Amino acid sequence: MLRSMRASRIINALLTLILLLFSHSLAAQQQGVTLKTVVIDAGHGGKDPGAVSLDNKVKEKDVVLDIALTLGDKIKKAYPNINVIYTRKSDVYVELNERSNIANKNHADLFISIHCNSVPKKSKAPSGCETFIMGANKSASNMEVCKIENSVVLLEEDYSTKYQGYDPNDPESAIFFNLMQNAFFEQSLIFADLCQKNLRKSPIPTNRGIKQGGLLVLWRTTMPSVLVELGFITNASDRNVLGTKSKRGELASALFNAFEQFKNQYEGQIEVDLSSITIQEGSEYEEESNEAPATVSKPVNDAYYAVQIFAVSKNLKDGAAEFKGEKNIGRFSSGSLIKYTVGHYDTEAQANKQLPALQKKFKGAFVVKIEGGKIVKK
Ligand SMILES: [Zn+2]
Repeated sequence: MLRSMRASRIINALLTLILLLFSHSLAAQQQGVTLKTVVIDAGHGGKDPGAVSLDNKVKEKDVVLDIALTLGDKIKKAYPNINVIYTRKSDVYVELNERSNIANKNHADLFISIHCNSVPKKSKAPSGCETFIMGANKSASNMEVCKIENSVVLLEEDYSTKYQGYDPNDPESAIFFNLMQNAFFEQSLIFADLCQKNLRKSPIPTNRGIKQGGLLVLWRTTMPSVLVELGFITNASDRNVLGTKSKRGELASALFNAFEQFKNQYEGQIEVDLSSITIQEGSEYEEESNEAPATVSKPVNDAYYAVQIFAVSKNLKDGAAEFKGEKNIGRFSSGSLIKYTVGHYDTEAQANKQLPALQKKFKGAFVVKIEGGKIVKK
């Protein structure tokens, strides 16, 4: 009796959680839904300068605050009815979980965390913008970005309890992120794609793609959320853009355009083909350094063959039990599903040769051709 009561209590709690997670995305699909609240998060602040330029003159905390405030002004001017909330409006330190608390408390429809990238002094810094959404770290460089952005919790008291034992210096401790399915994956992906598309027309035009990582600031948000890395403060050309007020305004404009397009999409005015959006797995600078990349990045326009093993809505990390020991996994977003492939073959014949063995593990496996980073129908 006691056991069944406890079980039903657990089931109730789970149902409530599921309802909470999905009510938001379901609501967005209903007619007449408008994007009412956006939370803009300028990274770092106060005692935490974030990344600093090589000449020590440009600090991430100042750059991102200016861009965040400019973006907010643009939104308020164009859409006076939209509630624009900042996690900070001045040079103050805000804990990471407080930033997501602000977004959750205010029932935000979108959370935008603004940052700039940097690489260690020894490495030659690349240029370009990239946008992160919550998910498993797919490569060493993604892991590195997350480590840097998450490491600010070391400045917080009692961070280990607050973030469930998370230790920024121990990548293994980020494993718990992989267990969580983000209910707002699709909308986050759509907004990330719009950020990247618009930033291509900005003063930092190099597109470094959409990436996934275990970012503490996005972890507990209950709405579509992204973390955008605007250029590399340690790259001379990006540093000059980030250090110039008018250029920062142009970066804010690019983000505003992405916001406006997202709003139209969110309110049901535009259909988005999710299968056209690719999540980047590797990145160029890890190849420049001598460290072996965790995942080999595939050239986007290179055609090849692979075996599709299944398509599920779940975001699975490398080494997941579902892959039954298979490595060299490819991921292709298609609607609400992610198609998973195995292998990378130059010819269809080579892929066909591997098919029978894979069909023993994965019943419905079949050979696909991949071109331009997408699965193309044969
Ligand atoms: Zn940062």
